Amino acid sequence: MKIMKFGGTSVGNPDRMKALISLINDGEKKIVVLSAMAGTTNSLVEIADLLHAGDASAATERNNILRSKYHQVVDELFATGNFKKSGHDLIDSHFEYIRNFTSGSFTKLQEKSILAQGELLSTSLFHLLLHERNIKAVLLPALSFMRIDKDGEPDSFYIEENIERELKNYQSENIIITQGFICRNAHGEIDNLKRGGSDFTASLIGAAINASEIQIWTDINGFHNNDPRFVENTKVIRELSFDEAAELAYFGAKILHPSSVNPAREKNIPVRLKNTMEPDDQGTLITSSSILQDYKAVAAKDGISVLRIRSDRMLMAYGFLRKVFEIFEAYRTPIDMITTSEVAVSITIDNSDFIKQIAKDLKELGTVEVEENQTIVCVVGDFRTEKTGSAPEIFEALNTIPLKMISYGGSPNSLSLLIDSSNKKEALRLLSKHLFN
Ligand code: ASP
Ligand code: MG
Repeated sequence: MKIMKFGGTSVGNPDRMKALISLINDGEKKIVVLSAMAGTTNSLVEIADLLHAGDASAATERNNILRSKYHQVVDELFATGNFKKSGHDLIDSHFEYIRNFTSGSFTKLQEKSILAQGELLSTSLFHLLLHERNIKAVLLPALSFMRIDKDGEPDSFYIEENIERELKNYQSENIIITQGFICRNAHGEIDNLKRGGSDFTASLIGAAINASEIQIWTDINGFHNNDPRFVENTKVIRELSFDEAAELAYFGAKILHPSSVNPAREKNIPVRLKNTMEPDDQGTLITSSSILQDYKAVAAKDGISVLRIRSDRMLMAYGFLRKVFEIFEAYRTPIDMITTSEVAVSITIDNSDFIKQIAKDLKELGTVEVEENQTIVCVVGDFRTEKTGSAPEIFEALNTIPLKMISYGGSPNSLSLLIDSSNKKEALRLLSKHLFN
């Protein structure tokens, strides 16, 4: 059985939804995971933000705008009066549910229930569409099997056991539709896998049922060797290893949610990235074995802050870095990149929620300097320790750009650099010119 996950733009309007039918209705058994229609989750976040701010009337207004958009979708999606009526009723019930939250106090938990409506709507509408076309399909609620534990991590044991039990009821069904993104938490309340988490859903389900392949369908032909938003003539990479894909996804390539690599890698299930607009294109295939190449791709991640800690106490001391790391751990802030000298250490983070507190605590250890608006540029390729020539080539390409940190030797398949975000576009362009042309 394979998993086919379709992102927000792939279900972004009635025509795109209709186009999915031929992709999934091929007689093979599959689980179809859908995101919310493009833009919906953002709108739901806006509504929730307004409710948090206590502005119920603005939230209601925003809710009504989204609601009428969906009624329009229903009008275009269905061909017959009966199904149009069922579609409109469905929309009304979801938006009435959201409207209930506009009176009284508003909590984080309620916010999660509101955010869940996007995927609940897209899957119900698509299921109804298949019904209208007389195509047999089952709608399997993700809330009946997808679960995170008290640390917010997927509860693999629970997921496996529950999806297996659910699927036993539908052994003769070929098309099983479910929601991406949404789940329950350790207390059974509605929660989610964080923004962009539908890819993660697909991968978790794939791992849970030992799928033959996990397909992630978007609106681009796969991973490109550089960011097509900033660099011209980028090319699709046809094959990647799990490690290479994880680095690219983490360091900025928007096509795949970084968490989604792990579950697939653990069960060694191939992940294929495909384009709904060009379904015949082979896309990018991610497996455990992939041919090494000097350079495969470049990706960039913005919104990075760097903290530089300098201390004479670090000289020939042991245990100093542990103290530094404990401070980051206390604020549950992951570290991306780190470089050390004998008396100083530079550390980057992408979540600056607690940066002030972290800097304050670090000052107990030495002098601290903080710089924001940084970008990590990651070059993925063959960086095994016995290899020569790659680092000089990269530095030569970037000899006009100030390099603030260099991380080399940490991974056999990448080299990362820290630069000012204002230099990102130029750096990406130079790397493409020197490494790929
Ligand atoms: N709809 C959710 C989001 O926009 C999840 C996803 O699309 O992956 O973040
Ligand atoms: Mg996505």
